[in-house]
Amino acid sequence: MPLELTCHACDVVLSAESEDELVDLATAHALSVHGHTPPRDNIVTRIRRHNP
Ligand SMILES: [Zn+2]
Repeated sequence: MPLELTCHACDVVLSAESEDELVDLATAHALSVHGHTPPRDNIVTRIRRHNP
């Protein structure tokens, strides 16, 4: 089952097969769409909260 994460800034839903992959995807999304890179720890925390 893929992991999912909703972008807090634009409500896009990102999904990937592994946590590492999703963190990379979220980082790339934040950089390309929002022009910043959130700390990796913040993304991991949000992924784990979203996928209990
Ligand atoms: Zn976004």
